[in-house]
Amino acid sequence: MDYEAVIGLETHVQLKTLSKMWCGCANQYGAEPNTQVCPVCLGMPGVLPVPNEQALRLTALTGYLLHCELPRHVQFDRKNYFYPDVAKNYQLTQLAYPSTVNGHVDFEMQGESKRVRITRAHLEEDVGKSFHFDRQSGVDFNRGGVPLLEIVSEPDITSADMAHAYLNALKDILVYGKISDCDMEKGMVRCDVNVSVRPKGSQTLGAKVEIKNMNSFSGVRRALQYEIPRQLEAISRGESIVQETRRWDDVANMTESMRTKEDAHDYRYFPCPDLVPFEPSDNWFETVREGLVELPMDRKKRFMEQYQLPENDAEVFISDVPLGDYFEKVASHGGNPKALANWVINNLRAQLVEPEVSLDSLRFEPAALVELVELVDTGKISSKIAQSVFTDMFTSGKAPAAIVAEKGLVQVSDTGAIEQFCDQAIEANPGPAEDYRQGKDAALNFLKGQVMKLSRGKANPALVGKVLDQKLRP
Ligand code: ADP
Ligand code: MG
Ligand code: ZN
Repeated sequence: MDYEAVIGLETHVQLKTLSKMWCGCANQYGAEPNTQVCPVCLGMPGVLPVPNEQALRLTALTGYLLHCELPRHVQFDRKNYFYPDVAKNYQLTQLAYPSTVNGHVDFEMQGESKRVRITRAHLEEDVGKSFHFDRQSGVDFNRGGVPLLEIVSEPDITSADMAHAYLNALKDILVYGKISDCDMEKGMVRCDVNVSVRPKGSQTLGAKVEIKNMNSFSGVRRALQYEIPRQLEAISRGESIVQETRRWDDVANMTESMRTKEDAHDYRYFPCPDLVPFEPSDNWFETVREGLVELPMDRKKRFMEQYQLPENDAEVFISDVPLGDYFEKVASHGGNPKALANWVINNLRAQLVEPEVSLDSLRFEPAALVELVELVDTGKISSKIAQSVFTDMFTSGKAPAAIVAEKGLVQVSDTGAIEQFCDQAIEANPGPAEDYRQGKDAALNFLKGQVMKLSRGKANPALVGKVLDQKLRP
């Protein structure tokens, strides 16, 4: 029998807010342990939480970006458990009344479009971080109380590669929307992976294995590349899969059992009595929608349609948003978009790697690039000369036409002048000239190069080829 994998992901993302979820402590990575804490995020008795409105806004904005419904009644619940990194003995989360439900993420994978439905994206709080030393352990509560979005997918993912592509698409959206920096190195995105297998075409779900707390997308892919065959092999041996939580061991490259369903937690959720339900007005939602941005996929499609750019160029402009925005500024002045994209992607981007150069500090106007392309397209300068004009524009800020006039760079398209250069080149290189006469086509390029040198790059190369050919093979 043919089996298929069924995967659902629970992705935790730290929100990009200045302060924590319930107090004024900084939401900032990398400080000395326990320096960004207060009685509220340390869970002292008698303190009261004050919701961070920006976190609620970013959550709602995520809902819009993921095409979710945004319920008008939102409530926080206490999820009770004991663990050293949770000082309060409970975590605040949204169980029955989450901020967003029923959305989807669209993305492309190997040229095919895919959709993964989103069950919900709800707001909760991060917990502290435990450290284990030789003889003791410690807890850093700086992370405790940082707003955390949990994005739960439907079990719509069918392979390790698709899980990887979904996570990247989700990350792109969150970075675009300025919801989160999604810096994996700083632990800003963590993922629980749920995976089961079932006979192909079956509508019922198999028992799922949950792999907890993955902190890299490539790790998720590797864990699934191990876990799916493990389950399939167990079934082919006649065993059945038990519902359990497994841990991914990145060094051994395998999953191992942590706990089975029997010792599953009972969190005794209940609505937090310290917080009133959140029932935002239409106006509040309207102001959240002002933060809506064009999604990466939409941007790519638009760049390909509006400017007739190839996919590769469009992809450069979705991964480097400021560069794409700059290209649009240039293209708004007219000209051939593909040629303009080449200049922006190849020439301009190469200059931007210099630390002192940035898009906001360019000395020339965006329209100057249009002018430069026109000079090439109309044959006034060769594309080789255009490179040096570009360098000049870059340093002097002068307009391309002015540079061309000043330096006398206008391409020589006057046949008389070109004939003279060609005669000189043939005379100086009798060997290659004879080769070409005898039918060796490659010799023409050499002679062309000589003519270009004689003209100091200003001869029109197409014309040079034509004249040489006429002289040698009349
Ligand atoms: P739990 O109650 O164990 O947390 P949920 O129903 O809340 O389970 O689902 C958690 C995640 O697991 C979701 O992303 C969901 O899509 C996924 N999931 C649920 N059942 C399965 C299954 N049988 N196989 C794979 N993924 C599953
Ligand atoms: Mg769950
Ligand atoms: Zn605090």
